[in-house]
Amino acid sequence: MDITAAVARGAQAPFTLETLALEDPRPNEVVVRILAVGVCHTDLVTKSVFPPELPIVVGHEGAGVVEAIGADVTDVRIGDHVLLTYNSCGSCAQCEGGTPSYCQEFVMLNTSGGRADFTSPLSIDGERVMGAFFGQSSFATHALVSRRNVVVVDEDVDLVASAAFGCGVQTGAGAVANVMRPAPQDSIAIFGVGGVGMSALLAARALGVENVVAVDLSAERLAMAKELGATTVIDGAAEDVVAQVQAATGGGATYALDTTALNPVIAKALQAVAPRGTLVLVGLGEPSMDFEIGHLIGNGKAVRGCIEGSGDPQEFIPQLIEWHRAGKFPIERIVRSYPFAEINTAAHDAETGATIKPVLVF
Ligand SMILES: [Zn+2]
Ligand SMILES: [Zn+2]
Repeated sequence: MDITAAVARGAQAPFTLETLALEDPRPNEVVVRILAVGVCHTDLVTKSVFPPELPIVVGHEGAGVVEAIGADVTDVRIGDHVLLTYNSCGSCAQCEGGTPSYCQEFVMLNTSGGRADFTSPLSIDGERVMGAFFGQSSFATHALVSRRNVVVVDEDVDLVASAAFGCGVQTGAGAVANVMRPAPQDSIAIFGVGGVGMSALLAARALGVENVVAVDLSAERLAMAKELGATTVIDGAAEDVVAQVQAATGGGATYALDTTALNPVIAKALQAVAPRGTLVLVGLGEPSMDFEIGHLIGNGKAVRGCIEGSGDPQEFIPQLIEWHRAGKFPIERIVRSYPFAEINTAAHDAETGATIKPVLVF
């Protein structure tokens, strides 16, 4: 079938809306008509910094309605409303253990731009276009995805508000709910309240954590963090950020989250954690960093990595929907929607930080 997709052809070139041919689904695949898709920084970095192969269609926070299913798909029906998440193999130890974001095939299935066999379902006049980014390439009117990308949801779920549950939102919320697992009396300091950090803040509040500190350079974002329940907000440019976090948390935060992927910020986050506390890293960017080993050992601190929220999307995304339905997770407050045709404006606003979470609507 013919579809319209936003094609990335180079770092400097804008996304261009083009007509492409989409293959029929293989036995374990599903075709989804996309109604909304979030814009994640990974989409923009993939286009501008390290595309696996050009041209490519990115987009990996899709939401929509199932339009066709492969012969072996028995638990998803045509007409089902779905949120799309990352892809995973389903058969390695991590997938079988319920932590598919650590799938041994994760890189191939999500960031290569192709399927596991490096084929692509998309082409233009016979020219291959990479079309399986995160198993979905959903900056498009239709996406061909694997069954494992699909989370079926009720028809009354707001697909615009929840489009980003499949990546950016579960990355932040899962770092709190699945990795930190805080008690209400714990404190959490969040460094960088973009889409991921704000999702972490919302999850902390949904879990009843009373003391949540937000650190950011943007006064607007800090104001929003305050509205969404941060108890203390701190200007990241201040000289005494660590002392301010310690003052706000009675000597140090039980947990800190870094979303910035900047070594100077990570160093401050580690200092701001209380003895026996844990710093969780979710931002990819810096290749390495030096830790003061004595500071870690002498204070019993831990540093942990976490990707895509460390949970099982088939369980955690319904949890996020439940919180949202109950009014405990007002994600729509950080979402701004754009018509699909205005994808370049949405990308620009994501890069400048003017919009915390852009979502394209069709
Ligand atoms: Zn796997
Ligand atoms: Zn993402």
